[in-house]
Parts: sequence; C-alpha cells; structure tokens
Amino acid sequence: MEVKDRPLKLYFIPYLAAGHMIPLRDIAQFFASRGHLVTIITTPSNAQHLNQSHNFRLQTFPFPSQEVGLPDGVENMTAVTDLDKSYRINAATMLLRQPIESFVEQDPPDCIVADFLYPWVHDLANKLRIPRLVFNGFPLFSICAMESVKTLSIHSSGPFAIPDFPHHITMKSSPPKESREFLEPLLTTALKSDGFIINNFVELDGEEYLRHYERTTGHKAWHLGPACLARRTALEKAERGPKSVVSMQECVSWLDSKRVNSIVYVSFGSFCYFPDKQLYEIACAMEASGYGFIWVVPEKKEKEEEKEEEKEKWLPKGFEERNGEKVMIIRGWAPQMIILNHPAVGAFLTHCGWNSTVESVAAGVPMITWPVHTDQFYNEKLITQLRGIGVEVGSEEWNPYCFFEREKLVGRACIEKAVRRIMDGAYESLQIRRRAKEFGETARQAVEEGGSSYNNLTALIDYLKRLRNSDAFFGLSTEFNGVDLSGSL
Ligand code: UDP
Repeated sequence: MEVKDRPLKLYFIPYLAAGHMIPLRDIAQFFASRGHLVTIITTPSNAQHLNQSHNFRLQTFPFPSQEVGLPDGVENMTAVTDLDKSYRINAATMLLRQPIESFVEQDPPDCIVADFLYPWVHDLANKLRIPRLVFNGFPLFSICAMESVKTLSIHSSGPFAIPDFPHHITMKSSPPKESREFLEPLLTTALKSDGFIINNFVELDGEEYLRHYERTTGHKAWHLGPACLARRTALEKAERGPKSVVSMQECVSWLDSKRVNSIVYVSFGSFCYFPDKQLYEIACAMEASGYGFIWVVPEKKEKEEEKEEEKEKWLPKGFEERNGEKVMIIRGWAPQMIILNHPAVGAFLTHCGWNSTVESVAAGVPMITWPVHTDQFYNEKLITQLRGIGVEVGSEEWNPYCFFEREKLVGRACIEKAVRRIMDGAYESLQIRRRAKEFGETARQAVEEGGSSYNNLTALIDYLKRLRNSDAFFGLSTEFNGVDLSGSL
C-alpha cells in the first residue's frame, strides 16, 4: 500500500452526555467500518456504555470524581438529575483537558473529531497542525438558524422571524439570553475548525441550507447520518447508553400484541425532567385520546417507597387499573431504537432532541413535537413546517438549559388534539405518515453505498488523506494501538 493510501488514524472525543456520545460513537463506527483506525477517548464508566465493536479502540482517562464532588461511577449527564450535578459533570470535562492533551501530543492522529463543548481542542489541533472536525449533534438547519440569530440583539424577546434565512420561519418566542451567551462563542470557535460533522442526511436538512451555511460562513459541513443506522443488528440497536430498565424482548412482545401504527411512543430524551403537574397533564391527555402508549418517565428518586409516593403525584388515581394492557410505563432508560422500529409504533411524542428526531425519521415514524431548549425549537420547525412529518403540541417556553423547571404547562387539551391529528387516520394524518415513511426510506438509502451520506464520508476521507499527505500536515504517525504500521506501507 502506498503511504498516501494507508488508513487514517482518527481520535474521537465525545462529550459526556448520551445525546452527544451515542451519535458520535456511531459516526466513529462509520469511519472504522471503512478500515480506518479509530480511537474513542472517554472515561471508564462511559467506556462501558460504548458497546465496543471490534473495529475501534477505547482510550480512557480517570474521571475526576473527587475533584468535582461526584460519587464514583457518575460520569455522564444521563446519570445526574439536577442542575448542580450537571455543572459538576461539565467541570470534570474541563479537568480532562490536561491528560487528553498529553496523550494526543505524545501520539498525534491524522484528525481529531471533538464535541464543540471542548473548544480547547482548537488550540491543541493548531499546535500539532492536525485537522480538527467538530460535532455538536444539531442538524445544519438549526446551526444556520443559530448563526442568523447571532445578528439579533441578545436581549430580544418574544416572537421573531429568523433573519436572512432561505425560508420564512417565525418563532413564537426568542431563545433565552443565557442560552445564547453559552452557545454563540462555542459556535464561533467551531467555525475555525476544518468542518462540522452533521448527524443528518442532506435530503432532510435541504441542499439549500448546506449552500446557505457554506456561503454565509465560509465553513464546511459534512452530512454523514443518520448515525443510528450504523447499528445493524437488534442487539446493537438495543444496547445504547446505560442499561435499559426493560429488556428488548419485553418491549417487543408487548408491541407484538398491538395493531400496526396504533401506539404512541412518549419520551423526552436523556435528561428532561418535567414537573409532576406536567406529567399529570400528559397522563390525562393520553388516556382521553384512547390510544395505547409507551411512556418513558425518568426516575428522580432512588428508594422504592419514594418512587411509589412520587408516582401518586403525577399519575391520576386508578390510571393503571383503567388502562392496564394499553400502557407501558418505563421508569428509566428505554431501548428507544427497538421501540421506534417496531411496526406497532405510529407516532413519537418527542422533545425534538436531534437524536430522537433523526431516529424517528430513520424509522419512518411521524412526530408530535414538544421542544424544551437549545436547538429543539428550530428542529421542530424543520420537522413540522418544512418537511411536514410532524405536528406541534404548542410548546412555547424556551428553557435556558435542561433541568430547569418550566413555568408554563402544555395543557391536556393541546396534547390530546396533537395526538389525534397524527393518529386518527384522517387525510392530514395519512399525508404526514406517507411523507414520514418516504423520509425513512431516503434516510436508509443515504447511508448505503452510493447514498448521499455514504458519498460524503468517502469525500471527507479523501479530503483528510489529502491534508495528511500535504506539507501542511506535520503529525504523521506510523503507529496505532502499539502496532508499527510502517511495515504495511
Ligand atoms: N435514549 C434512549 N433511551 C432513553 C432515552 C434516550 O435510547 O430512554 C437515547 C435516544 O435514542 C437518543 C439519545 O438517548 O439517541 C437522546 O438524545 P436526544 O438528542 O434525543 O436528546 P437529549 O437527551 O440529548 O436531550
């Protein structure tokens, strides 16, 4: 093999949250499946959840539990239930900078792919003259919206139209100042990288947004998703993130007993904790709609007796007796990909976290959208207004971050109405379902040989090889995983 053709050596540094780690691990698998040498850099407890495939290696560094005051083994946003602890996880990620930097400096790769929540990777990559790609888990449509919103006053509030945008999109409220102050500097640092990796396929974001982004920022974006489609077997689909509290078999046999498209899947991602009164509204709305549903409710309490007491606050009296076989409540982590891909599931009531959204699209399942924070309000517009594969529940309150108690409730009448619009089999619902199925088909084609994301990955690999082989690249290494590769050149 000629030097210029030898496999790329890539380091992936995912952020310590399920919504960042799961997709970046899957994108790493896309590279590894093309024969490239992939290392994922993380901490020991997170490494256990990465479902190591034979074709990538894990490099771990101890999580600084004592320094940040977290119990042993709590190393991910998914494992914490309040704002204070989430800040501690974030503080820990900052302390990981030094050991990761020394590791990378000692054994530099051909490219670093890091979450945008690690802006320091920019200086490291510059120092070593290594290409750096960034990932933040948002679709390009929403990154474009955030770039446009940068031009608005940080103090603006109330409804607004996204300025200088390919489509006329009106938002019912403005992103909170805290959220913009946090995100915008990170996006600006991301623009200095060699490109964004996007967990989406270009057909869903739209070519016009790719062109708009590249024209207005001069920055490159590579659509490589949906990342979830890197997982081919049922087991790979079931084992993502923490261990599920229900088995794949239990979910599948429950769903097998239901009619096609008859069940609503209700889940708000890995760290969205609604107040009890909001959960109560959801329970009442779903019961009134008459449709069966799987409801994932994150567990806030640890002791069994506290869990029972807590349940009385958000579940109407007699709910379980009345609804029996119609409802499956999952208190904790659910095997989402298994559920979404079952034919009985006819809709997904989602917080529009991008992973959940693109997983629903890939499964051909229409959505009932209920955004809570960050990119989710823009993601909703892409799904409902632009692509017509979902309906809005009417969520307007834009939280500064996760773990914030929301003040405004979404009432049961709005929830029930939105559920019926997707599930009732009338003309509108059939049209939405048809488009959702078509996008599901396009998503699957995108990652197959010759598909748009597949071709983008080929182009990106060629680009990285050209950079490596050019004079600009100094970090050339002939060693991987303790193996000298020079013999194979
Ligand atoms: N997820 C899951 N089971 C759960 C909750 C979440 O498998 O019970 C996965 C989900 O499939 C997605 C990720 O966790 O891949 C959540 O990411 P998303 O962007 O949807 O939301 P976030 O949790 O980041 O708000």
